[in-house]
Formats: sequence, structure tokens, C-alpha cells
Amino acid sequence: MPAYDPSNIFAKILRGELPCYKIYEDDKAFAFLDIMPRASGHALVLPKAPARNILDASPDDLAHVIKVAQKIAKASVEVFAADGVTIQQFNESAGGQVVFHLHVHIIPRKIGVAMKPPASVKEAPDVLAEQAKQLAAALR
Ligand code: 5GP
Repeated sequence: MPAYDPSNIFAKILRGELPCYKIYEDDKAFAFLDIMPRASGHALVLPKAPARNILDASPDDLAHVIKVAQKIAKASVEVFAADGVTIQQFNESAGGQVVFHLHVHIIPRKIGVAMKPPASVKEAPDVLAEQAKQLAAALR
């Protein structure tokens, strides 16, 4: 597998070099909204430690990220009145991964609303800002 490349966009977000709509942070994980949501409220949670994906992550970081994903899933259901949640995690290009810093997708779902294709429509900044505010409050 290729080595971790610290120039990926999520590493830049973690270092504060690029902006994001942050919803959660602790000592080992960081979460923000996907700017091209597959469904309204689509969030991403990452380990702070560098890991390309599940294949090179430390088991402890991976376990922590999943715990945070569960917290976000519960908050998502509450905040967006979702009927369900889709959790996705892709590994390497062949596995559908596009950004090579490990991340778990948390996608709130409504009955009868199909997911959009990946990275197809950019959400309006004011919508993302309001959703991030609501999710962050629910995660406090
Ligand atoms: P992957 O296929 O690697 O699991 O998913 C990468 C995700 O990153 C996609 O859902 C895409 O919409 C999202 N994404 C791409 N660029 C950016 C960005 O600059 N900021 C945020 N917040 N999400 C991004």
C-alpha cells in the first residue's frame, strides 16, 4: 500500500490550513460536515493520527473513531429527525476511497429519499453552517 501523504485535504483541515464545518473534536478524533453531502447532514469523522485508511490505522484509533461515529449517528437522528443512518468507510481507490486520510461517513437517511452520487452536489454554505451548529450543540 502507498504511504500516508500529509498533503491530503483532510490532513490540511486537521492542521487548520483549510476551513471546515466542525461538529466535534476530542484528543483523538475530529468531525465535520461533508461539503458535498450524499444526504442532508452527511458528516465525516477522522482519527487525528495519520492513517491512510483501515489497512494502516491503529486498532485503538479505529475503535475510537467508531465510538465517535456512533455518537454522531445518534445526534444526527435527533437533529435531522432521520429515519435511519448509513455508515460508510472506503479503502483505497479500488474500494471507493478518494481522500486518503481514514474517515467514516455518517449519513442521516429519510424513508423514500435516495442518496446522491458521491461528491455530486455542493451544499450551500449557510445550510452547512446551520447544520454544523445544530449537530455540535447536540454533541456537547
Ligand atoms: P471517500 O470516497 O474518500 O470516502 O470520501 C471523500 C469525501 O470527502 C466525499 O464524500 C467528498 O464529498 C468529501 N470532500 C471532498 N472534498 C472535501 C472538502 O474539501 N471538505 C469536506 N468537508 N469534504 C470534502
